[in-house]
Amino acid sequence: MKKPLIVQKFGGTSVGSIDRIYKVAEHIITAKNQGKQVVVVVSAMSGETNRLLGLAKQIDSVPDARELDVLLSSGEQISMALLAITLNKMGYPTRSLTGAQANIMTDNQHNDAVIKHIDVSPITELLLQDQIVIVAGFQGITAKGDITTLGRGGSDTSAVALAGALKADECQIFTDVDGVYTCDPRVVENAKKLTVIDFPSMARMAKHGAKVLHLPSVLCAWKNQVPLRVLSTFNANTGSLVKGDKCLLPLCGLALQRDMCLIKIAVEALPTVKKQCGMIGIEIWDVIEHPDWVGIVVKQDAYSKLELVLQGRVADRHSISLLTAVGAKAEELAKSSCQLLLDNEIVTIHQKLDNQSFTIALFPDCVDSAANILHHAYITLSEAHDCLQKHAFLN
Ligand code: ADP
Ligand code: ASP
Ligand code: MG
Repeated sequence: MKKPLIVQKFGGTSVGSIDRIYKVAEHIITAKNQGKQVVVVVSAMSGETNRLLGLAKQIDSVPDARELDVLLSSGEQISMALLAITLNKMGYPTRSLTGAQANIMTDNQHNDAVIKHIDVSPITELLLQDQIVIVAGFQGITAKGDITTLGRGGSDTSAVALAGALKADECQIFTDVDGVYTCDPRVVENAKKLTVIDFPSMARMAKHGAKVLHLPSVLCAWKNQVPLRVLSTFNANTGSLVKGDKCLLPLCGLALQRDMCLIKIAVEALPTVKKQCGMIGIEIWDVIEHPDWVGIVVKQDAYSKLELVLQGRVADRHSISLLTAVGAKAEELAKSSCQLLLDNEIVTIHQKLDNQSFTIALFPDCVDSAANILHHAYITLSEAHDCLQKHAFLN
């Protein structure tokens, strides 16, 4: 009978020290001793990718994209080798593979590449030899042989893509929280763990800043119906299962996006700026239109790149944060949410409705309070359901 196959992914904090690598090895060994075939994906040790990025930026604020990928991909290679050394030493034959060695083929979009295809034969061959296989997350290779990386947080996507290609029984994302919560538990202390969350809601949460899962990983799991579970490396718990194609909860959560910036430009400059952003791969999150100016919202770390094309056409620039509510009835809560925040002396800069979500732009120093206020009003209160009905339908 064919052995079950699981893909386990361990994030930066989980492999952040040698002690933690031992803890990760225990999870892998437990699965192996249960008779499973195990493919592991690892991130760089926590802080390592930022450290490498910082080194490159000391030299050039917009480092050469190809060389940056060569540099950043080395972080995951360190983790994979340390984990393989650990497992081999513990008596479990293990081989580590870089993205290139695992045939993770991507497009040519350096720093934000998309996985196109994985030829899993080197992995299946190692599994047949009863080895544990560790693959470096966050990286792939182009048809020309250049190393690429998949965007920050991309190891989740490596894991899901491998699980899909290997037809794994489950893809387990081990991290430093024990599942997907109704809001980042570091911001809202009494956020609730969701035992199940559907794919479209998870995708919206990830898109709007819930970094517990990288957005492409959710989309890839959804498309290929990969059973996806988020769980803690440090506490025994069944975590959260991401499954289902329909959003059923009226409000399933809030997502925060810090480090955004609102750049005001002249109205007539907008078409050119949009075109140039498209050409250099900068995503415009939103366009805020006023009678005498237009604001574009982009990620702060895209600003150095954007400065190159804007060249003095910026009228004004502000740091902002975005708070997004996600759920089947989220849109209906937009008006009452803004009022609720205003009652608490929090000014909203802008709001935007989208399919089953609404986003509020705020000054960065009030986003945590705003998240707590909305979470308390619409999710925490035991009468949350009544409250939702009241605000959504009676106001
Ligand atoms: P890893 O290094 O394991 O990939 P990340 O830092 O990328 O971990 O993601 C886990 C973090 O995501 C948590 O520590 C938590 O602060 C944050 N997070 C944001 N939103 C949520 C949410 N809705 N549920 C759980 N965690 C969240
Ligand atoms: N190491 C990469 C990052 O810090 C990828 C990941 O952790 O998923 O973004
Ligand atoms: Mg992550």
